[in-house]
Amino acid sequence: MSEGIQNDIAPALSQFCHEHQSEMLSVLKQAVEIESPSDNKAALDRCGQYLAEEFERLGGKVTLYPQRDAGNHLKAEFPGGGGSKPVLLLGHFDTVWSMGTLAGMPFRIADGRVYGPGVLDMKAGIVMMMFALRALRSVNHESHRPVTVLLDTDEEVGSTTGRPLVEATARQCEAVLVLEPAQGLSGCLKTARKGVGNFTIHVTGRAAHAGVDFERGRSAVVELARQILEVTKSTDLSRGITVNPGVIMGGTRTNVVAAEASVEVDIRIARAADAAELEKKFSGLRPSDPDCSLKVTGGVNRPPMERTEGTVRLFRLAQEQARKLGLNVDEASTGGGSDGNFTSALGLPTLDGLGGVGEGAHAIHESIVLEELPRRTALLASLIASI
Ligand SMILES: [Zn+2]
Repeated sequence: MSEGIQNDIAPALSQFCHEHQSEMLSVLKQAVEIESPSDNKAALDRCGQYLAEEFERLGGKVTLYPQRDAGNHLKAEFPGGGGSKPVLLLGHFDTVWSMGTLAGMPFRIADGRVYGPGVLDMKAGIVMMMFALRALRSVNHESHRPVTVLLDTDEEVGSTTGRPLVEATARQCEAVLVLEPAQGLSGCLKTARKGVGNFTIHVTGRAAHAGVDFERGRSAVVELARQILEVTKSTDLSRGITVNPGVIMGGTRTNVVAAEASVEVDIRIARAADAAELEKKFSGLRPSDPDCSLKVTGGVNRPPMERTEGTVRLFRLAQEQARKLGLNVDEASTGGGSDGNFTSALGLPTLDGLGGVGEGAHAIHESIVLEELPRRTALLASLIASI
């Protein structure tokens, strides 16, 4: 760690970021206004092209990874003078917002906030990557590790195609800094995230007229209700396990004994070791009515990001850099998953929540706090230099 140099560059990094706030905002405006919903490849590729050009202008070696249905993923590599393994800056540029959202939810700045679809989750984080790299260059700090930027395009829908690339890239790196939003308006960094799983239970019963021959029917709805009560027994808040039957479907009419019913269940786990137990629970479900049949699909798709020693070390380092910048940052854990879950599960020190400070991710009031934008960018730059 370049402790001596650090003491000198923190104020200069901070100054650069504050002086470039309006430029950051104009890049952020463009990034937000190129809408990029997870399910629209053409839109994602337009956004990716814009970002690729920006990272190229900063001197990055940009690689686009063509995908058939998902947007093309983007990697940008920057050389460094110190250390051999790069620091990975991780994020995504897909958003949960459908094409056309911008018209009713435009990019705007008001009351010290910046609003717009995807501004917090996580286009601000991407712009922060760019300006942190520029800030480091502006202070002629060339002794930091090489930096690899990796942005995928299907994070909001489970990172099906992004995951292998995230994992392969992370394996080459020393540490992972995730530019997802900070936790809450106090801007906590995220040192732990729950793992996420999705299961579907489908019940097939037997239809019958509810009045004429009720006793011949086998209600899939009633059977499903029993199965739901059975799986929700696994919720254990003290162990950080939650089982949420979020969506149920079933039946056709009130006067028909339902032949089909199904439930989609979201599960969250705090410890990787709990994944097997939950998967066993779901795969072991048996119908309580032998005339009904069950089909269970799904599994754990994001392992938890546990608060490992390596992650805590990174967090302490960030805290130290924050102090030099006159900031105070704390840590938090969250039930939400990110691509940081994958890198952490590989055993890499992973610190998340380094992106925008704001509120309303995935909601109509999605926004970032403007004055935190240069501050957190300086923190990112300072942290990169100290790893
Ligand atoms: Zn995100």
